Amino acid sequence: ALDIGHDLGRALLNARSFERERRLVDELRQLDSYKSTLIATLAHELKNPLTAILGHAEMLDASPELTPSARNSISAVERGAARMQRLVDDLLVLARAGDPHSAFNPAPVDLHAAVLDALDLMRVTINRKKLGVVVEAPAEGIRVMAESEGVERVVSNLVSNATKYTPEGGRITVRLHPTAREVRLDVVDTGIGISQSDQEHLFSEFFRSTNPAAVALPGTGLGLAIVKSIVERHRGRITCESTLGRGATFSVFLPRA
Ligand code: ADP
Repeated sequence: ALDIGHDLGRALLNARSFERERRLVDELRQLDSYKSTLIATLAHELKNPLTAILGHAEMLDASPELTPSARNSISAVERGAARMQRLVDDLLVLARAGDPHSAFNPAPVDLHAAVLDALDLMRVTINRKKLGVVVEAPAEGIRVMAESEGVERVVSNLVSNATKYTPEGGRITVRLHPTAREVRLDVVDTGIGISQSDQEHLFSEFFRSTNPAAVALPGTGLGLAIVKSIVERHRGRITCESTLGRGATFSVFLPRA
């Protein structure tokens, strides 16, 4: 009888602590959802005034009777507003990708074509930095079951990072590996690499490395958070392997069409 009482008491304690943990998890989820709503609302509210600022600055910039110093000021306003607009756009994409209530409409998407498009977008920088580019893909088309806009974002953010964080004369390799159920996309660069401790935070919103070689380059720290959010929306995975100073490999797994 003593033992039964003891076991019952323990079971009751376990149940209580389980209940406490469950409530804590619920509260954290709710806070996370408040945070996402707040960010999305702010980004949305900033969009219109920013469009107005940019529009008027561009109009002033085109006026012939500006003094050189006024022209400098206007162009500083334009640059600042354009930067803010990119940030706001990224925040809106992040909020949309992470919104569990937004409709998910996947369709077959040609991943090879998305890779070639992303490389094309970066062509000017690739040529300027004299980067070698290699694409390794099987001859037959590789299609994933995904939202095409999302796939384009994922591929172009990874290719753009590889281009950005690889010094002149480096190489970018993009590989496509289909398996029975998934396609693995590897974006490999020979750039500055990422330290072990930075790798733990890489996919967090606003994270930017303290590596001096990376800090010098402009960025918001939202690119990889967006990539991760989109990949998870597709029930895919993303991993990073890197050694500081010796390049990085990002691998994305998406469901095969
Ligand atoms: P951003 O590039 O705007 O800073 P990201 O979220 O795309 O934001 O990347 C976060 C950080 O991860 C970057 O600041 C950089 O330090 C590091 N990083 C991302 N991709 C690479 C890469 N291919 N090589 C080295 N570092 C990278």
